[in-house]
Amino acid sequence: MSTAIDELETGATSAISAATTSAALEDVRVAVLGRSAPLTLQLREIGQLPPAERGAAGKRLNDVRVRLEAALTTRSEHVAGLELEQRLMAERVDVTLPGAPVPSGGLHVLTQVRRQLEDIFVGLGYTVAEGPEIELEHYNFTALNIPDGHPAKGETDTLWVGPGVCLRTHTSPVQARTMVAQEPPVYVICPGRVYRRDTPDATHSPIFHQIEGLVVDRGITLADLKGTLQYVARRLFGDGREIRLRTSYFPFTEPSVELDVSCFLCGGAGCGVCKGSGWIEMLGAGVVDPNVLTIAGYDPEVWSGFAFGMGIERIAFLKHGFPDLRLLYENDLRFLEQFPA
Ligand SMILES: [Zn+2]
Repeated sequence: MSTAIDELETGATSAISAATTSAALEDVRVAVLGRSAPLTLQLREIGQLPPAERGAAGKRLNDVRVRLEAALTTRSEHVAGLELEQRLMAERVDVTLPGAPVPSGGLHVLTQVRRQLEDIFVGLGYTVAEGPEIELEHYNFTALNIPDGHPAKGETDTLWVGPGVCLRTHTSPVQARTMVAQEPPVYVICPGRVYRRDTPDATHSPIFHQIEGLVVDRGITLADLKGTLQYVARRLFGDGREIRLRTSYFPFTEPSVELDVSCFLCGGAGCGVCKGSGWIEMLGAGVVDPNVLTIAGYDPEVWSGFAFGMGIERIAFLKHGFPDLRLLYENDLRFLEQFPA
């Protein structure tokens, strides 16, 4: 009997060591210590042995059972460790792998440029004003010193909605509305969409965007305008940009100027972008005509100011140098994605 039990223990011990999964080990446990296992059966039959042999045989069998139970526990912990390691390996995430790209929207390049301009002027203490796109003739023309019969009012330039009502041809009427609504000092910019009766081509669009600026305060001169716009040009196009003023004519400013900025590409030496002149036209501006102040109810003996207006498309073009204005409105992502925001 002794030899048989030794063999049983040896066989059971090897089966326990050979099990590499929890399931296999459970099978071994049932085979070795289960209700029908040889060891269990032998323990049950001890009662049938002669009384003199019962003690020694029972102790022997029990010792074997205790050792096998201990071996099962040890093996079970080892197998659990192995399985945990395998699962961690299988579920491992390589954080260095490139992720799947998540498509995300962005701001249109025109919105980016408009916001940049707004940030620059808000930093200078200006407020942002908005006005209606369907505008009264009074604010679009008359209040800005544009007389009846001026070519800008004609049906070839302006889109009329009805008698005395048009789609605004510039953002300047917001200036006129601002002056009516508040007392000076005024430091305001008016960004927005404007409409002209134009056929779309590489440089024209019937709908485009402007930012208008107006300052009215005591003692404002052309020098204040120049200093302000030089600062803005450098913020937009980089340090070292020079500006120059050329005389021009607008009905609502006197004197009127056009502002050129030194070419950001060639630095003034002359290139294709600046058509060899070294300068690029940026905007129109001037000292507010006393008539415009009077129409708004401001005393031109006390108050003076300057105004300027620039096309947002033009600024975007000067910053990025794309070849055709229409690219801005065609919603072609291959174009727009080149200006991530
Ligand atoms: Zn140039």
